Amino acid sequence: MRAERTAQVMLAALVALATGCGGGGASPQARDATTPPAPGTAPARATQPTTPPAGKALAGKVVVLDPGHNGGNASHPAEINRLVDIITQRKPCNTTGTSTASGYTEHAFTWDVARRLRPLLEKEGAEVVLTRPDDRGVGPCITERAAIGNKARADAVLSIHGDGAAPGGHGFHVLLPGLIAGHNDAVVAPSRRLGLAVRAAYRSGTGLPYATYAGRDGLETRTDLGGLNLSTRPAVFVECGNMRNRGDAAKLADPAFRERIAAALAAGLTTYLHRG
Ligand code: ZN
Repeated sequence: MRAERTAQVMLAALVALATGCGGGGASPQARDATTPPAPGTAPARATQPTTPPAGKALAGKVVVLDPGHNGGNASHPAEINRLVDIITQRKPCNTTGTSTASGYTEHAFTWDVARRLRPLLEKEGAEVVLTRPDDRGVGPCITERAAIGNKARADAVLSIHGDGAAPGGHGFHVLLPGLIAGHNDAVVAPSRRLGLAVRAAYRSGTGLPYATYAGRDGLETRTDLGGLNLSTRPAVFVECGNMRNRGDAAKLADPAFRERIAAALAAGLTTYLHRG
């Protein structure tokens, strides 16, 4: 693993040299490259005065935010129940999602978090693409959500969800893509690094514990999610809390807490996009 990582870093350094660094943001090869860590040295950006826009931490990065579900799903069962192929199985195109006991819906929650998160990333220079334009539509299918990230050549894809588990469980967890040989080989490792960065930032930024009812230490590897299986870009899901749990629900339904969630997710994405 260490040798492989070292080789990746060396390759990334060579790619950076070959592209002259300055044009890196627009080059697919450079965008794919793992950012070499620079222990004890100044950030690479300091030597790249031609990277536009200067001084912004996420300049040249593309982030796809995928707010789970949609406001019109519940009233369009035929459309969202249509089965689609996610490699490991066939699943409904989309689902309605869950809600808190008092009726705050997951689709409204995920949309609100994405709406708050987007400007935080844009302020740092990132190009942000959302998988749906509002909270009133139907779908899109999980296949289409993944395709949006792929087409955008996203440096990171974050799917935002709230869980609908048994009320006794609480806390958050991050879902990572499991290996599906021949399909997502190249993105399993960077997705894990993205997931670790999101997990750390979410825990410290929100104070929520790792989920007591799923995964281990706030992480769960899955091969049954279309958004992960079909992504050719680094991608994770975050289950921001259990909406069926009273304590978590009170937090997720609080706009001030959602602002904290957005800030935490921005911090996690920024850490990953810096380190690669
Ligand atoms: Zn969901």
